[in-house]
Amino acid sequence: MERGLAIIDRAALAHNLSRVRQLAPGREVFAAVKADGYGHGAGVVAATLAAAGCDGFAVSSLDEALQLRWAGISQPIMTLSQPLGADVLAVMGEHDITPVVFERAHLTALAAYRGPTLGAWIKLDSGMHRLGFPAYEAEALSAAIHDMPSVTLAGCMTHLGCADDPSDPLTHHQLACFDEALAGIAVPRSIANSAGVIAWPASHGDRVRPGIMLYGSSPMVDRTSHDLDLAPVMHLSAPLISRRDLGAGEPIGYGASWHTPEPMPVGVIGIGYGDGYPRHAPSGTPVLIGDAIVPLVGRVSMDMITVDLRNAPHAAIGDRATLWGPGLPADDVAHAAGTIAYELFCRLTPRVRFEVQ
Ligand SMILES: *Cc1c(COP(=O)(O)O)cnc(C)c1O
Repeated sequence: MERGLAIIDRAALAHNLSRVRQLAPGREVFAAVKADGYGHGAGVVAATLAAAGCDGFAVSSLDEALQLRWAGISQPIMTLSQPLGADVLAVMGEHDITPVVFERAHLTALAAYRGPTLGAWIKLDSGMHRLGFPAYEAEALSAAIHDMPSVTLAGCMTHLGCADDPSDPLTHHQLACFDEALAGIAVPRSIANSAGVIAWPASHGDRVRPGIMLYGSSPMVDRTSHDLDLAPVMHLSAPLISRRDLGAGEPIGYGASWHTPEPMPVGVIGIGYGDGYPRHAPSGTPVLIGDAIVPLVGRVSMDMITVDLRNAPHAAIGDRATLWGPGLPADDVAHAAGTIAYELFCRLTPRVRFEVQ
């Protein structure tokens, strides 16, 4: 019997890519597959999306880019937050990896670089104030890259800080800032993450960079994955390994943080924070057995969680519980646990077995 098992549904990935295409028709799609494909396995995710026609991939670092190259991915790959020095640029040239430039020191390294031509993207800060040059420097930066012997300007990009909330004024401000900065430069533009793809058509530019929506979760504060017709790619399940019938007023688990309100069946599921299930998930966090929600009760342990089986009184040892996946959106579990689906996915540990479907 498998313990924690994550099944990766390739058809769901392809479906979600088609949703990106419907929402942002005609734009280049660069799938964000950083952090091991948001914990889904970057190799299988990238290969599946490439076969479905994805134009390229966005990763965090050179290491992540090289892992995709070693996995046989031949599409363009851009690094989103890789510092650029001489050694890094030499490897990027050799493996045809696209640098994103976000610090002045990177320009010095690019100017000194000699090798296969690198098409660099300039990252502009349009108001999120995380990475990027002040947007008003776009023309000067473009001119500087123009003078470099082995580097061309492939495009300009920025990142949105509040696109998940359609009522947040910052996105309007960021889009206007970016537009104004690039008014005099004809270069490809890239702005949109998943929330931009979904809610901000003006952010679609030439290249969109969706991540979380490809994995089937909603980035929006006001819309669910169901509303958006996104299919869950990961199905995380674990078996019921024990069950017992307890009387009223009995404590459950470490710290006795929960007590049975009445005589009831309690189940034990073989997954815990040692597998990446969030330890801070409180009593009441949804877990699914069959069609029944069996809420988490008591504290999450390293190897186990305990659940209230009153909704599934006939659940038997060996039955599999869904922690998230079809029938139980990761967004719902994340909401209950005070986090986001991105983090749930990224935190799974090597103890979880992965299977591709
Ligand atoms: C991670 C990331 C994305 C994708 O974001 P999602 O919210 O997962 O769609 C896009 N652009 C940049 C710069 C990122 O770091």
